Amino acid sequence: MQSDDQNPIAPSGTFPGFSGVDAPADEDLYKCVHCGFCLNACPTYVETGLEMESPRGRIALMKGVAEGRLAMTESIVGHWDLCLQCRACEIACPSGVPYGRLMEATRAQVEKQFKRPLKERVGRSIGYNRVLASPARLRWVGRAAKLYRSSGAQGLVRKTGILGLLPGDQAYLDESLPEMSDRFFKASGQVITAEGPKKATVAMLAGCVMTLTHAPALEAAVRVLSINGVEVHLAANQGCCGALNAHAGEFKSAREMARKNIDAFLDVSPDAVIVASAGCGSTMKEYGELLRDDPAYSEKADRVSSLTRDIHEFLFELGLRAPTASLDYKVTYQDACHLANAQRITDAPRQLLDSIPGLERVEMAEAGMCCGSAGTYSITQKEMSRRLGDRKASNIVATEAEIVTTGNPGCALQMTSALDRADSQTRVRYVVELLDEAYSREQSV
Ligand code: SF4
Ligand code: SF4
Repeated sequence: MQSDDQNPIAPSGTFPGFSGVDAPADEDLYKCVHCGFCLNACPTYVETGLEMESPRGRIALMKGVAEGRLAMTESIVGHWDLCLQCRACEIACPSGVPYGRLMEATRAQVEKQFKRPLKERVGRSIGYNRVLASPARLRWVGRAAKLYRSSGAQGLVRKTGILGLLPGDQAYLDESLPEMSDRFFKASGQVITAEGPKKATVAMLAGCVMTLTHAPALEAAVRVLSINGVEVHLAANQGCCGALNAHAGEFKSAREMARKNIDAFLDVSPDAVIVASAGCGSTMKEYGELLRDDPAYSEKADRVSSLTRDIHEFLFELGLRAPTASLDYKVTYQDACHLANAQRITDAPRQLLDSIPGLERVEMAEAGMCCGSAGTYSITQKEMSRRLGDRKASNIVATEAEIVTTGNPGCALQMTSALDRADSQTRVRYVVELLDEAYSREQSV
């Protein structure tokens, strides 16, 4: 059986600098022809103008380290760490460089070979292996965060100035703590029946952070599916999809999470597995690749990958029942990177919005540019994350839309805080929340 520490893509030990079986595959590493078509698609290159902060530059560093010409120094790791893994470069690349896969494999090498500061190592171990791996623990963290914010403790702590005395940027972490939903979304085996003739039976991923911060959007997603004739199963044994772990090169825990979800979803025998968070959908569509050398799971993982549908994609393919009540909002839509770049879905969410009577949709400039959220990036790369967040906010504000819509919790959190900093009244909502609102208005007219 495949070891959980192995990268499924890589051949074993090809390079002196990238040791062992989890090195990037040489066919991936040597695909880049240095043409530079990806440069202006890359947010970190656009912001800095530096070759080493571009896809081409980062790949050159990977090759240098792989071939043993360069040591894996703090500076080189820093260039890789600044990558958002937004995969905009994959879309722009005419040579088909699988950049996301390359960077995940490179990060696995970094975690193996490079000694990060102790504080960071402890944080990663707790975050990836303890909290994200357990929905129950995650809810405890969510409850504690909610209490910290709502009890006034946060204000008190800020007043004392104690955060500035602690090591690391604790004030920034405190500021980044997202607002929690009034009640959390919990998958515990519920079956939500279809309204009218049943068109499909689906399993739905609840996810991790979204269950705490955007529970109403998940509830809206379930209602929208049901009203469109879909029976929704919220399998009890599911958990976090493992996307954050895989992106960080933490393959072992990512695989454990994938196996758990595969068992939970297949148990329901669904026609599709629905995901309302772009980042999770993208990873689940790659479960087959993640577990391809695991004889017990490779076939099941392929099956779940082929069943996985982003909710916008699914509703569009199903043939959405267009709402009849109107919503007189001016909205814009932000492309989540893992929907537009990794899953190549840009049209379906826009078409769903356009099906709502009365709704005026306007395009923002750079709708497809990463907002700077990128999983844990907003915590680990404060400066670049803020720059990209502010850039996104100013593009949103320029549209004069009252609502910006998205399909990913990280983007929703990032845009909310960037719009707050910009003193904007524009609200952030999910596409499915607007559909849900339109359907609920039908009943009240
Ligand atoms: S994944 Fe995004 S940030 Fe990273 S190199 Fe590609 S375009 Fe740049
Ligand atoms: S577009 Fe592709 S081939 Fe060209 S430099 Fe970028 S990664 Fe390399």
